[in-house]
Amino acid sequence: MFKDNKFKYRIFYLIGVIAVVLTVNYGVTNYSTKRITYNEFLTLLDQKKVKSVDIQRDKLSIKPIDDSVYGGKNLYTGNVKDPNLVEILRKANVDFNAEIPNNDPFMGLLLYWVGPILIFMVLGRLIFGKLDKKMGGGVMSFGKNVGKIYAENETGKTFKDVAGQEEAKESLVEIVDFLHNPQKYSEIGARLPKGALLVGPPGTGKTLLAKAVAGEAKVPFFSMSGSDFVEMFVGMGAARIRDLFRQAEEKAPCIIFIDEIDAIGKSRDGALQGNDEREQTLNQLLSEMDGFDSSKGVVILAATNRPEILDKALLRPGRFDRRVIVDRPDLIGREAILKVHAKGVKLSEDVDLNSIAKSTPGAVGADLANMVNEGALRAVKNKRKFVIQEDLEEAVEVVIAGKEKKDRIMSSKEKRIVAFHEVGHALTAALLKNADPVHKITIVPRTMGALGYTMQLPTEEKYLVSKEEMLDQIVVMLGGRAAEEVEFNQISTGASNDIERATQSARSMVTVYGMSEKFDMMALESVRNKYLDGRPVMNCSEKTGTAVDMETLSIIRTCHERAIDILNENKDLLIEISERLIENETLMGEEFMDIIRKRRPDFVEEEVASEKIENEENNIVE
Ligand code: ADP
Ligand code: MG
Ligand code: ZN
Repeated sequence: MFKDNKFKYRIFYLIGVIAVVLTVNYGVTNYSTKRITYNEFLTLLDQKKVKSVDIQRDKLSIKPIDDSVYGGKNLYTGNVKDPNLVEILRKANVDFNAEIPNNDPFMGLLLYWVGPILIFMVLGRLIFGKLDKKMGGGVMSFGKNVGKIYAENETGKTFKDVAGQEEAKESLVEIVDFLHNPQKYSEIGARLPKGALLVGPPGTGKTLLAKAVAGEAKVPFFSMSGSDFVEMFVGMGAARIRDLFRQAEEKAPCIIFIDEIDAIGKSRDGALQGNDEREQTLNQLLSEMDGFDSSKGVVILAATNRPEILDKALLRPGRFDRRVIVDRPDLIGREAILKVHAKGVKLSEDVDLNSIAKSTPGAVGADLANMVNEGALRAVKNKRKFVIQEDLEEAVEVVIAGKEKKDRIMSSKEKRIVAFHEVGHALTAALLKNADPVHKITIVPRTMGALGYTMQLPTEEKYLVSKEEMLDQIVVMLGGRAAEEVEFNQISTGASNDIERATQSARSMVTVYGMSEKFDMMALESVRNKYLDGRPVMNCSEKTGTAVDMETLSIIRTCHERAIDILNENKDLLIEISERLIENETLMGEEFMDIIRKRRPDFVEEEVASEKIENEENNIVE
C-alpha cells in the first residue's frame, strides 16, 4: 500500500516543511531574544536600563532601553511571583503591563477544539489524499468517490489516426452513426448492440480505435482498465462499475471503454478458488449492461487479447455481442500505419516506406510507431535535418533485435564461428528453391542477445505456406549449426534459438498442419491464447504424444542432413562469403548474391512463387 512513491514523497515533503518552519522559528526567536536571570533583571532596573516590562503568567518580557543592553535584544526571565515586583517597577518608573487572560468561551472552544480538528483534517487530506485514490473509496469517503474513471470530452482521435484496420473500422462506423443520431434507430425499433468487443494482439490499436470511435462521434469517452476494478476491498470494483455507468448515463450519448476486460471478465467456472471481488465486479457489470437503456446512446466498448477466457455471460446477445477483430496488419496496413506516424516526421526524398513495411512482417502498430520514432531519433543523433531510409532500416533492426552493441568485443575465433554460422543460414536460404531471399547478414552483436543474424525478406506478402516451404525454412534455420559442423567439425551453443524455432515448426507440421505421413490430417494440438504467445495444448494420448515427438525428430533430422549436404557441396562459397563477412561485418543481399552469381554462373534464381504466407514472426535467423 505504501508502494506509491508520490505518497512517500508527500510525507517527506511534509516533514521537511515542518522541520524548516521549526528551525526558522527557533532561529528567529533565539536570535532576537535572550534569557537573563532575575538578579540581572533587578540590576538592570537599578541601572535604569529597562524601558518596559510585560508580566505574563510564567515569564517577564523585558524591553531594554537601547542597544547598549545585550545588543537591544528582547529579554525575558522567569516570573518568580515576587510580591514586591509592582512596587519595584513603579519606583524604577518603568512601563509595565500584565497579560489579560482570554476568557471568551466561544474563542476558547474555537481554539482548543475546532482548530486542532481543522489542522488534522488538512494534514489528513495531504497524507491520505493519495492513499484515498489508491484504495478507491478511501479513508474519508468510503465507497463514494471511486475515482480512477478517466473521462475525456473529446478524444481528438479519428479513424484517420487508425491505419490499416479497415474491417474493424467498418464494423464500428455503424456505432458512430448510432451515437450521432440515436433517434434514427429507435424510431424504427432497431436495437443496436450495447457493446462491442475489440479483440486482437497487444499493440494493434484497440485502445486507439475505441478513442477514434468516440472522436468520430464527438461524444465523451469514459475509460477504465479492467485491472482498475480489481481491488483490495470486496465490493470496490462493483462500486466503480456502478459509478462509471451513472456518470456515463448523465453524459449520454457517450462511450464507455473497458480496456483489458479479461482482468474482470475471466470465466467463472473452472477456477478452483473463486475470486469474490472479481465475481462481484463482473456481476455488477453484467447487470449494469442489462439494466441500461441503450436507446439513450451509451455504447460500451471493451478490449482484450484473450477472448477465449472471457465468461460466456459477457458474450451473449445483449451484452458484448459484437466482436471486432483487430489483427496484425498486413503489408498494406503496415505501410499505411507507417505513413500515419511519419506524417509529423521530416522524411528525405529517398525514404521508401513500402520497403520498410516489407521488412517488418508480423509487426503491430505499436512496433511501427516505435520504429518511426527510433528512426527520427537516429537522424537527430547524426545531426541530420531529415530522416533517411538508413535511419528507418536501422530502427527496424533496433526494434526487432535491439541496439548494436559495438563495445562487445568478440575474440577473432568466436567472430569466425558466428560468421560461418550466419553464412550457413544465408547460403542455404539462397540455394534452396522455396526459401525467402536474403536481405542482410551481419555479425554486429545486438543488445537483445543476438551475436549476429541473417535477415530474409519475402518478396511478396504471403498468406499460405506450402509443405516444401516449411521444410526449406527448417533447413535454413538449421543451416547455421550445419555450417559450424562443416567448417569446424565442432558445435557451439549459438544455435539454441534456431533449434527452438525449427523444432516448433516441425512440430506444428505434424500436430497442426497435417503435413506428416503418419498422422495424416489429425489435429493433435490446439492453440490457446491465439493473440498472445499462442502456446499450443496437446490433445492426444501420451502414447501418441511420444509418436509425435519421434515424427518431429525425423523431420528435423532430415532437414539437418539436407543443410549439411548443401553446405558441403558449396563449401567454397561458404568460405568465401564468410571471409568477406568477417572483414565487413555486414553484407547486404545484393553483395551476397553477386558472390554466388560469380562463382555459379549457371545459378538460376527461383522466380518467387506468387502465393506465400506472411510469416507471423519476423524472419530473422540468429
Ligand atoms: P492495443 O490497445 O491494441 O494494445 P494501442 O491502441 O494502445 O494498442 O496502440 C498503441 C500505439 O500504437 C497507438 O497509440 C498508436 O500510436 C500505435 N498504433 C497501433 N495500431 C495502430 C494503427 N492501426 N494505426 C496507427 N497507429 C497505431
Ligand atoms: Mg490497449
Ligand atoms: Zn542461427
